[in-house]
Amino acid sequence: MDYAVARRRMVESQIVRRNITDKAVLDALLRTPRHLFVDEGFRPHAYSDASLPIGEKQTISQPFMVAAMTAALGLRGGERILEIGTGSGYQTAILSLLVSRVYTIERISSLASRARRVFDQLRLTNVNLKVGDGTVGWKDHAPFDGIIVTAGGPDVPTEFLDQLAVGAPLVVPVGPRDQQKLLRIVRTEDGTFSREELMDCRFVPLIGEKGWLNDNA
Ligand code: SAH
Repeated sequence: MDYAVARRRMVESQIVRRNITDKAVLDALLRTPRHLFVDEGFRPHAYSDASLPIGEKQTISQPFMVAAMTAALGLRGGERILEIGTGSGYQTAILSLLVSRVYTIERISSLASRARRVFDQLRLTNVNLKVGDGTVGWKDHAPFDGIIVTAGGPDVPTEFLDQLAVGAPLVVPVGPRDQQKLLRIVRTEDGTFSREELMDCRFVPLIGEKGWLNDNA
């Protein structure tokens, strides 16, 4: 299988066709080998229009969702971004090509170790990964120029809002376990927050102190 060809087709048919036009985002998708972020058995499906299992009841997000969330951050380069829910590390890798540093938190250590191995393989040197509960953010490195959450919680932890720089966006799925709304919340100059609904979505649960208590469906 020619992965580069499959990847070009993915970008054309799943991303560009759905009106994601940010050139830098499209370029990052073209440069990132999604097949390395899934188990060997799933590699033939790595460029399909779907989320895929990565073990531990978690999934690598659908390519379109990764593209849409990345575009929603409105990146220009040079940002410091916080990501909650490293999972496979695919979204992290895309971000690492677009910004100056990605801070990413994963609660399941086996997934974190696997993601770290792929980052090393791809020589991504601007990623700080830690294992822990991301629902409280990462205060030591705040404020961030953007926060992206790739698991769905019942509401928005105030820690995420507190850790946003002025003008910075938080892209986060919020709602019941089986269906969420993807929100973009921006901290404005006068200290208030603007809030916009981007689309319906369905993510694995955000589990932690400020999320769901457990992963019971
Ligand atoms: N962007 C990832 C999405 C993985 S699924 C990818 O495309 O591969 C979401 C991930 O969030 C899962 O790995 C899950 O373990 C993790 N997660 C859930 N709650 C979390 C929390 N409180 N802190 C950190 N990670 C969390």
